[in-house]
Amino acid sequence: MPNTLLALNWKMNKTPTEARAWAEELKEKYVPVDGVELAVMAPALDLSSLAANLPAGVEFGGQDVSEHESGAYTGEISAAMLKDTGATYVVIGHSERRDYHQETDAQVAAKAKQAQANGLVPIVCVGEKLDVREKGEQVAFTLRQLEGSLAGVGAEVVVAYEPVWAIGTGKTATADDAEELAAAIREALKQQYGAKAGSIRILYGGSVKPENIAEICSKPNVNGALVGGASLKVPDVLGMNAALK
Ligand code: PEP
Repeated sequence: MPNTLLALNWKMNKTPTEARAWAEELKEKYVPVDGVELAVMAPALDLSSLAANLPAGVEFGGQDVSEHESGAYTGEISAAMLKDTGATYVVIGHSERRDYHQETDAQVAAKAKQAQANGLVPIVCVGEKLDVREKGEQVAFTLRQLEGSLAGVGAEVVVAYEPVWAIGTGKTATADDAEELAAAIREALKQQYGAKAGSIRILYGGSVKPENIAEICSKPNVNGALVGGASLKVPDVLGMNAALK
């Protein structure tokens, strides 16, 4: 079994100064849990501050990356730039990027390939909206999205299943809902990657907090969580980490 990944997504929160204070508080109180990896996905401007101040063993990464290697793409951040800060991961295809920036599956796959080519592990997000779930089409939709988002992408990847209706809403999918999709994703990964699929981590994301993380992550195909709201305060992060013991 791969290590459980507790991946935090700060979204557009925390200045570099606030990031430093958060990292220092974590350093003071963090107790590593065997078999659990903690990683903070932060705004690009915060990464140097995290590199200097996080406790040993806590990883960090970006929240998006350019699909291009380098050049005339004003405002974009390349995979090589992220890697140079010491980043390990990058979140790609978050529903907020897909919705507000019209990112397509093909762009998600191109970004994931850029990330891998530069030694980063992409955390590729997929998941259905409420209307799809209400029609009972969540598995077919999510697998279609996964297929496009992983086209040509290598097996050094993390997949995050995030039903859009559960992100930031307080509505969590049940642990069984999460497992239904995680098991379907695992089967699709086996088709694409063969035996390597067993070591690919599949995360659940959507209103995860200290009170519900243990049950969700106890499911056989769920190997961790991607957490937004509950990632901002260190005590909540410590609570989630401890709940995974
Ligand atoms: C997310 O942003 O990926 C997320 C899951 O957010 P929240 O935990 O706030 O639902």
